[in-house]
This record gives sequence, structure tokens and C-alpha cells, in this order.
Amino acid sequence: MRTLIVDDSQFMRHYLRNELERFGSDCVEAGDAQSALDLLHGGECFDLMLVDLNMPGMSGLECLRRLRDDGLDPEMKVMMVTTESDREVMEAALTFRADEYLMKPFSSQGLREKLMLLGIPEFVY
Ligand SMILES: [Mg+2]
Repeated sequence: MRTLIVDDSQFMRHYLRNELERFGSDCVEAGDAQSALDLLHGGECFDLMLVDLNMPGMSGLECLRRLRDDGLDPEMKVMMVTTESDREVMEAALTFRADEYLMKPFSSQGLREKLMLLGIPEFVY
């Protein structure tokens, strides 16, 4: 199980890494969307990608759009992580086939429930 964590906040990356490692996932962090796309273009494969929506430079939504356009890692589940409650943004994320949506702030239990909804076998126990 490998997870790519994409967030401009180091605090949030570390928080998510800590949680996911407790669930038994290896984690790779990217501090911006372009770095994440570079990893994927470089052939790295992940089971799950957690993407912050609000990042300077390329947004999480644009990152997701490019990921889909380029057909990168099609088996990978993508969960958007955001404080954004704007309905249009959420609908756009679904248009680009985000698999799940996690609203900040979230609890450890809330995160785990979302991971289980994604149907990643390692999280279903
Ligand atoms: Mg952010």
C-alpha cells in the first residue's frame, strides 16, 4: 500500500502521513501539484493520492484534471482534501473523477471511514 500526499502545508502532510502510516501505508509527500505530477510522470505508482484543493501555483483541481487527461496511474484512487465547501468546486472535482472528498477539519475516524469507502482492501478491517 502506497499513498501520495499532496499538500502545501507541511503540518497537514505530516498529519496525514502519521495517520496513514498507522493504517499501514507507505507514504510519499509532495509540497505542490507539479511535484506530484512529476513523480507520476516518472513512473511512480500509488494506490491512493490525497490532494489538497487549495495550493499556490497549480490547484488540486487542476492537478486532478491533468492526472486524468494524461491517463496517469488510472488504478490509483484520488481523494480531494479541502476546506472548500463551494458546490461548484465539488462538482468539478467529481467531473474529473475524484473518488472521494474529505472536508477539513476531519477526525482520525472520519479519515478512516473515507478510506474504507474507497474500498482499499488494506483499510477494510
Ligand atoms: Mg493548502
